[in-house]
Amino acid sequence: MHEFSLMESVLRIAKEAAESNNLSRLNSITLVVGKLSGVNIEALRFAFEALKTEEPLIKEATLEIEEKEGEGKCPQCGKIVPVWHYDLLCRDCNMPLQVAGGDEFYVKSITGERDG
Ligand SMILES: [Zn+2]
Repeated sequence: MHEFSLMESVLRIAKEAAESNNLSRLNSITLVVGKLSGVNIEALRFAFEALKTEEPLIKEATLEIEEKEGEGKCPQCGKIVPVWHYDLLCRDCNMPLQVAGGDEFYVKSITGERDG
């Protein structure tokens, strides 16, 4: 499952961030997920709940997800319009739109606490 391996990478990033900042536990992990990224958010949450139980640092953390709308840009007229899937055409020029946003997937922030 795609989302499991994605979440494994996220947890690895989170653990490295926790270690380099001397955090003893994480409170939250915030991800930015574009609607064109092909990532299934339900599956992602499921993977998080399943994987975090094995990680003492992350066990208590919550997962925050910010969804980004898809954006397509017309190569002809430069107009940017909201899109919800690939392969859409510009309404004015009939040109295939290029993805201008909404295909991102990244860790935006991690919060945690130090002991004492
Ligand atoms: Zn156009």
